[in-house]
Amino acid sequence: MDRTSGTRFESKPEDVLQPPATLMNATAKTNLLGFTRPELEAFVERMGEKPFRARQLFKWLYKRHENDFDKMTDLAKSFRERLKEVAEVRVPEIKVTQVSADGTRKWLLAMDGTQGIEMVFIPEPGRGTLCISSQVGCAMDCTFCSTAQQGFNRNLTVAEIVGQVWLANRELGYEPGGNRVITNIVFMGMGEPLANYRNVVPAAEIFMDDLGFDLSRRRVTVSTSGLVPQMYRLADETNCALAVSLHAPNDRLRDELVPINRKHPIAELLEACWHYVEKQNARSITFEYVMLDGVNDQPAHAHELVKLLRGRPAKVNLIPFNPFRNTRYKRSSPAAIERFRDILNANGVIATTRKTRGDDIDAACGQLVGRVQDRTTVRLGSKLISVAVQP
Ligand code: SAH
Repeated sequence: MDRTSGTRFESKPEDVLQPPATLMNATAKTNLLGFTRPELEAFVERMGEKPFRARQLFKWLYKRHENDFDKMTDLAKSFRERLKEVAEVRVPEIKVTQVSADGTRKWLLAMDGTQGIEMVFIPEPGRGTLCISSQVGCAMDCTFCSTAQQGFNRNLTVAEIVGQVWLANRELGYEPGGNRVITNIVFMGMGEPLANYRNVVPAAEIFMDDLGFDLSRRRVTVSTSGLVPQMYRLADETNCALAVSLHAPNDRLRDELVPINRKHPIAELLEACWHYVEKQNARSITFEYVMLDGVNDQPAHAHELVKLLRGRPAKVNLIPFNPFRNTRYKRSSPAAIERFRDILNANGVIATTRKTRGDDIDAACGQLVGRVQDRTTVRLGSKLISVAVQP
């Protein structure tokens, strides 16, 4: 199989739809949150300092959550002064904070004054999951996702992705040296992370770096709708957990729900999944499956899914559909979800149902809308359709 082809929709927008330089350099200072550790070493070397200074700086940024260079007292005063001139720690701006009755928090963040994204924190006993965004909007055009309704505006930069976690830790009252508040990070907010590969991968490295956020590889999860070529790259180049939005057990249905399937059908997608597990020596892939009433939730669908996944390193996470305005779908009944889960479990496929959190503040999966202000939308689904009808 040619794994380098088929990147037409993914890599091209990535190059042309980076934020304009004027926005990225709003203050002309370098945002240190955009650097992996080796990149920070190169940066401080360019400033005439020894690379070990980068380790100190990295620790200040991520272990102590310090953004005031004056307080970084083990750095020479002259270096701190120089840093103040050329660098800064710039985080997204909070526009709105909402707290659900169940403790879930949702923030609307402004990335560059106008473009909005959403971020959600889900506290559970013994863990805290931060759900972050990788793009402003999304081009994948999944029919059951409210982000898709917005279209796609642009990729987030590394600093904007890392800045979400940095900001959340601060907002959640993390104390240096104290217990972690955020124990898990999932790329399940707005956007398709693998369509913004070049910024998502360095951000994930910073999350897993022991001098950075120091999360274990199983606690940083990239969730993809199925960009197969990038899944192969990810298997080679990084070390995080992978979740795949499957949502349908056959191509006919998946073509409709997740349009990227027309380009990378289920067999090709699953092959990439098993390769990932093998290459990464990972335990399993989590398959997300949104439960849509009367669409993909019938016993026959469950049996088809069993055929795809039985005996494989797979776990299925059933997600009750979260409705939004103008959607044509309804959530499956609790009985239908239970029946579906039982069929999977009885046939050797591990399945769980995701608890819906933050209902009262629309903080659940697929309900993140942000504020995409530039309406020059890009939609993958319509592109694929137009490609399909060309002679
Ligand atoms: N683009 C990535 C990550 C973002 S979506 C992906 O597709 O995996 C995170 C998860 O929420 C995905 O599994 C997505 O399919 C699911 N989701 C989207 N809309 C939803 C909705 N309305 N109700 C429930 N889950 C939804």
